[in-house]
Amino acid sequence: MTARIIDGKIIAADLRAQVAREVERVKRDHGLTPGLAVVLVGNDPASEVYVRSKHTQTQAAGMASFEHKLPADVSQDELLALIAKLNADPTVHGILVQLPLPKGLVTETVVNAIDPAKDVDGLHPHNAGRLAGGLPALAPCTPLGCIILSKTVHASLEGFNAIVIGRSNLVGRPLVQLLLNENATVTIAHSRSRDLAALTARADLVYAAVGRPEMVKRDWIKPGATVIDVGINRIPTAEGKTKLVGDVAYAEVAEVAGAITPVPGGVGQMTVACLLVNTLRAACAIAGLPKPA
Ligand code: NDP
Repeated sequence: MTARIIDGKIIAADLRAQVAREVERVKRDHGLTPGLAVVLVGNDPASEVYVRSKHTQTQAAGMASFEHKLPADVSQDELLALIAKLNADPTVHGILVQLPLPKGLVTETVVNAIDPAKDVDGLHPHNAGRLAGGLPALAPCTPLGCIILSKTVHASLEGFNAIVIGRSNLVGRPLVQLLLNENATVTIAHSRSRDLAALTARADLVYAAVGRPEMVKRDWIKPGATVIDVGINRIPTAEGKTKLVGDVAYAEVAEVAGAITPVPGGVGQMTVACLLVNTLRAACAIAGLPKPA
């Protein structure tokens, strides 16, 4: 058996097109232009690439994009003052502070300063708490993308056994909450879990968010399972170059899984598309409009 490849590129492009249509509608019918402010502190090359991609895609969806670049040695007070300004700015509906922050800045304090209504990264404790309580919330973009990808395979996730490997606040924990909201039965595993292979072998839906190259092997996977690989790991090749791989041993797992996301071209594509979804949702909620389609 060879798994169906879940093409994140195509699914993300469809989602971005849907967002663009909705943006056009709220502009036309309500005079509302959703706006996203991205704050980049320092000049980490990977973060710069992400921020550039967010800017381009935000503009392509017809939204306003505001970029704020601050030097790596900016003080915490200066950063908090910028966030306070963006919180008060009626043209800004989403605020994202690109992580990781340089040393000397306290991520928790910075994230907690963002108005929860504009917290499009879904990391503020207000949104994390609401999500955990099964209430409407802005949820983190990568787990949202994982759910959308899974639903291209199964229209409903109800009753499926799911395993989430990894329990970070950014991916694993919110993904568990989203799966519960979908009525899946969820196991959450982490570095202290015993017999991960046996736990994984029970799952119809496998989500790997660990940061360990090709850790999930073929014999961990129940035949026909849907495998969503969140991991992004850069490893050296025999030719002295580097390449990106996920947390799943793709080639061997694809021989037994029913469906699988590639790396690159899977979950990563969905993260920015879901950021646009969250910005549109935040803009509509702030303006008192119904949740967009
Ligand atoms: P973190 O490092 O914050 O969390 C990793 C999690 O994996 C932890 O919960 C850790 O357990 C668990 N873990 C580590 N080693 C093992 C092991 N041997 N067995 C089982 N569990 C283990 O990572 P993130 O959640 O931020 O990211 C995970 C991966 O996803 C990374 O590769 C990252 O690059 C990628 N990523 C991709 C995104 C995308 O857009 N595609 C977005 C965000 C992340 P414990 O809690 O016990 O330490």
